[in-house]
Amino acid sequence: MVTKLELEKIKQDLVSRKLEIEKELQNLSNEKMVDGLSQDDGDQVVTLTMESLRQSLQDTEYSEYTNIIAALASIDAGTYGSCQECHERISENRLKFNPNARRCLNCQEKAEKGLI
Ligand SMILES: [Zn+2]
Repeated sequence: MVTKLELEKIKQDLVSRKLEIEKELQNLSNEKMVDGLSQDDGDQVVTLTMESLRQSLQDTEYSEYTNIIAALASIDAGTYGSCQECHERISENRLKFNPNARRCLNCQEKAEKGLI
C-alpha cells in the first residue's frame, strides 16, 4: 500500500517532470521557428534529420507527458496505483521504477503482446 506521504512525493516528482517536459517542448517549438527562417538548400538534409530526431523526441516525451497527466489525475481521483485493466494493485516496486505505470505487470505484458 502506498502511504499518503509517498503519494505526495510521487505527485511532486510527476509535477516537476511535467514542468520539465513542458519546458523542453516549448524550447523545441521555438527552435523550429528559427530553423524556418535560416534555412537554405545546403542545410536542408541536416535540418530534415534534426527534424525527424526532434519529432521522435517529441513523440516520446509527448506520450510520457500524457502518462504523467493521467497519473496525476488518478492520484487526485484516489485510483493511483491500481491497474486500469484488472483493477488489481500495481506492485510498489513497479511504481518505484515507473511512477506512470497504469497497468500491473501481467496486464502490461498482455498489452505488449496485443492481447488486450
Ligand atoms: Zn492488471
